[in-house]
Amino acid sequence: MSMTDELTLDVQALRAEFPVLGRKVHGGKALVYFDNAATTQTPKAVLDTWVDYFERYNANIHRGLHRLADEATQAYEHSRDTVREFVNAEDVREIIFTRGTTEAINLVAQSWGRSQLVEGDEILISRLEHHSNIVPWQMLAQEKGLTIRIIPVDERGELDMAAYRALFTPRTRLVCVAHVSNALGTVNPVSEMARIAHEHDARILVDGAQAVAHTRVDVQALDADFYAFSGHKLYGPTGVGVLYGRFSLLEAMPPWQGGGEMIKTVSLEEGTRFAEPPHRFEAGTPAIAEVIALERAIRWVTNLHFELLEDWEQRLLKHATERMKGIDGMRIIGEAPHKAAVISFVVDGAHSQDIGLLVDQFGVAIRTGHHCAQPLMHHYGLDATCRASFAAYNTLEEVDYFVDALQRVVTMVRD
Ligand code: PLP
Repeated sequence: MSMTDELTLDVQALRAEFPVLGRKVHGGKALVYFDNAATTQTPKAVLDTWVDYFERYNANIHRGLHRLADEATQAYEHSRDTVREFVNAEDVREIIFTRGTTEAINLVAQSWGRSQLVEGDEILISRLEHHSNIVPWQMLAQEKGLTIRIIPVDERGELDMAAYRALFTPRTRLVCVAHVSNALGTVNPVSEMARIAHEHDARILVDGAQAVAHTRVDVQALDADFYAFSGHKLYGPTGVGVLYGRFSLLEAMPPWQGGGEMIKTVSLEEGTRFAEPPHRFEAGTPAIAEVIALERAIRWVTNLHFELLEDWEQRLLKHATERMKGIDGMRIIGEAPHKAAVISFVVDGAHSQDIGLLVDQFGVAIRTGHHCAQPLMHHYGLDATCRASFAAYNTLEEVDYFVDALQRVVTMVRD
């Protein structure tokens, strides 16, 4: 942060913390990394924390009495408390470590869903969900005879809130919605959706994978029953994620995986007594180093100040959107007024994959494909889009370089 005229992100200083951003690709071209919605890059502080664990206190947690086990356990549980504070959960027991968003949602489906839902119950899912907030529910619906109803999306990529309200019936038990759409960037009105869900005595699961690195999340203010996110989209490592669950719900949920760490006592004669949450849901040795590094990533991003971060990413989004609209034959998909820094686009007459490959030749990493959101792609009559997504370390110069490259690519494919 620079403290001169106004508080702004010192983006150049921040970039220096990311070794990978100094890379050259394709014959010496500077890497422009615009694939942040898939995975963010990792700052040195987080990498150092990960290495430090292995160099100084690599040990299994919870069961050991020796010094290293104690240090590892303390760091692991300290991470839980940092996550609690990060999402403003009331109680540290509401934070469960998982492998990522996908596993967090599967946990809810397999534990809460399997134990609480019965044949004929209904689940509302928005059309813009990532497959990981669709498929676990389809699997459960098939097993239990549930009905899935779809919250529609309009042309701009916003949820149709009137339709949402109208979808509730006395059998509606759960709403599944992304805080931010990975494919379009739409920020969904999740706190209003939670209010409406609760009026109907339904629960709400919010997929926060695309939100936590870009805006301040407060699960109590949102009134979310479950909130899921991944470390690797939050400047942290892969292989770790979080499920927040309201304690009153977690307390009543059965385990979904059995093994070590999640028990109180095991007897071959009398069976097993399970641990309380959160340990009930963390069977086996977890990703200890990754959980500890996630703690560092959360402190890193929090130190940027979310107000400054959001302001910066919105500047990148606005600048990129304005400039991209100047390219003939290019269409932006998803223009909700409230968007995160994600731009999906297609080029008339060209396959998205070709655009992605050609842009990559300029050193610019964007993503192409269905973005694990095929129902949303079909809504737009598309198989795929190109997607540029920004993070704290991206610059206006990078946006200009990308748009110039894109202009050349579009001219090339259309000639
Ligand atoms: N939900 C959304 C909105 C996502 O963008 C993603 C990843 O792209 C996921 C869920 C799945 O996350 P993970 O693969 O880390 O479990």
